[in-house]
Amino acid sequence: MISNIPTHEDFYKTGKELLVFSWDIVAKLLLNLDDAEYFGVDPEEVSEEYWSLASRQINTALAITQQGIEFLLKGRICEISPYLLISDTPSKWPSPYDYESIEFSKFRTLDAQDLIRVLDTFSDQKLDVSFVQKFNDLREKRNVIMHSLSTSLDVQFSEVIESLLYMHSTLFPSESWAKIRKEGLSNHPNSELGSSDFISNEICRELSIIIDLLTPAQAKKYFKIDKGRRAYFCPECHYEANHDVDFEFKLARLTSRDVSCSSLYCPVCDSVYEVSRNDCSEDKEVCPGNVISDTYSICLTCGH
Ligand SMILES: [Zn+2]
Ligand SMILES: [Zn+2]
Repeated sequence: MISNIPTHEDFYKTGKELLVFSWDIVAKLLLNLDDAEYFGVDPEEVSEEYWSLASRQINTALAITQQGIEFLLKGRICEISPYLLISDTPSKWPSPYDYESIEFSKFRTLDAQDLIRVLDTFSDQKLDVSFVQKFNDLREKRNVIMHSLSTSLDVQFSEVIESLLYMHSTLFPSESWAKIRKEGLSNHPNSELGSSDFISNEICRELSIIIDLLTPAQAKKYFKIDKGRRAYFCPECHYEANHDVDFEFKLARLTSRDVSCSSLYCPVCDSVYEVSRNDCSEDKEVCPGNVISDTYSICLTCGH
């Protein structure tokens, strides 16, 4: 008999943790670059040394993304049967005669390049061709980034972000990445050191910068927002945010162009909030806003 058989939840949990870790690397670089810009550094003119160091980090992030996806694929296989993960012929398995039970971890498990084939063989539904292509591209991409002399930081950052968002949404179409990322921040050891007060600030700032890098189609696909539409504060994110520091991140959008539209979607919360369409109590010249949260008594245009 076999003991300590992993569950698909184990694999999904670890896989998503790795994706969050990878995202964290890229987000930190982007945030620091944004800070630098704020303090007067022109991002087009950062030193070659910065670029070479950043490339190494982006590569690490890509490697971690790839590993995360491998765990998620193993989880998928595990849902069919964990025993499918065992590779090698029975003659090479640990002997069943030496111990009462064999630890699952004693078995050699599938190599990364076989995961998709196994999954496509046993699953009801084959993986999307473009998913397989992207998965195989990841390793190649790492080489390209490592050896490219591109000075466009955005392109390189986008590689990690896009791959990660695309693969996560393909494997878990009903899950919101922003929510997972937010949970990742809440579960970060730093949250025990007091950073939990700033989670709303952090996630909103990070997503503002990242959504800026995405095309409108990507923003729609991964964060369900229309970048072309006017942005508002999310009442919940604004409420949760720490206002000892500036909070200026507007990510929520009304769900339709209708002038009487009273639902507002926030990609960070992945929730729709009821709003009323009344004029802001501020002077019209100060704030022409007319999207108000009655629950939090706040104008979602100026925050008043
Ligand atoms: Zn929100
Ligand atoms: Zn206002």
